[in-house]
Amino acid sequence: MNIILLGPPGAGKGTQAQRLVERHGMKQLSTGDMLRAAVKAGTPVGLQAKAVMDAGELVSDEIVSALIGDELDALGEGQGAIFDGYPRTAAQAESLDAILKGRGRTLDRVIELDVDEDALVARITGRFTCASCGKGYHDTFEQPKVAGTCDKCGGHEFKRRPDDNEATVRTRMAEYRAKTAPILPIYDARGIVSRVDGMGEMDDVTAAIEAALAG
Ligand code: ADP
Ligand code: ADP
Ligand code: ZN
Repeated sequence: MNIILLGPPGAGKGTQAQRLVERHGMKQLSTGDMLRAAVKAGTPVGLQAKAVMDAGELVSDEIVSALIGDELDALGEGQGAIFDGYPRTAAQAESLDAILKGRGRTLDRVIELDVDEDALVARITGRFTCASCGKGYHDTFEQPKVAGTCDKCGGHEFKRRPDDNEATVRTRMAEYRAKTAPILPIYDARGIVSRVDGMGEMDDVTAAIEAALAG
């Protein structure tokens, strides 16, 4: 199964993708994570992407589609993919169709996380992750069970993203509204979109996604 998690910054795409990975052994393909790794490694792609990401704008379609193609090539044949933060533009949606087709895969479902934008700033500004395993947390909504220790790997180091500040979040939301939300009708026309309420408790959102994937 190959699915897209679609929603604005802070909607819960990464959180829910991590849960699907644990439950179903699918692979999370997050272009944001790939780009941050490239920035950290100082690759040519990273050098090009850094300023764009810091500003909350979109990295070029060519760069992200190339990253996605490479990651898909590394997947086992039977392993499902969760596209998290990709596609974000109509051009990327078109590329994804071609990328999947070229690898004998089909897009099975698009989960749209329906959220209230006003609540997202609080989610984004409180977000942090484990520096070793990447598990996501929140200052208010999901703290580690033992303060300062990662639930998943026992790590003690956590990090915050430089673009998770209020000003940049506003730009990222405007980008989502202008360029990403308009791709939904493409998938609606194929009858593969499931709208899920992303404002509930994390467990309830997970249950709604599971129901959408089962149905
Ligand atoms: P995205 O990948 O869509 O940008 P994340 O999954 O990283 O969003 O979630 C953003 C922040 O909000 C994280 O700190 C996460 O712990 C928290 N979060 C995710 N889902 C919920 C939810 N249903 N209720 C409250 N907080 C949530
Ligand atoms: P969030 O989870 O908050 O939605 P991401 O981690 O997906 O954020 O993306 C962080 C930044 O990386 C974006 O603001 C953008 O600059 C860049 N980026 C990630 N994915 C894409 C993409 N598919 N197309 C263009 N830019 C992207
Ligand atoms: Zn960890």
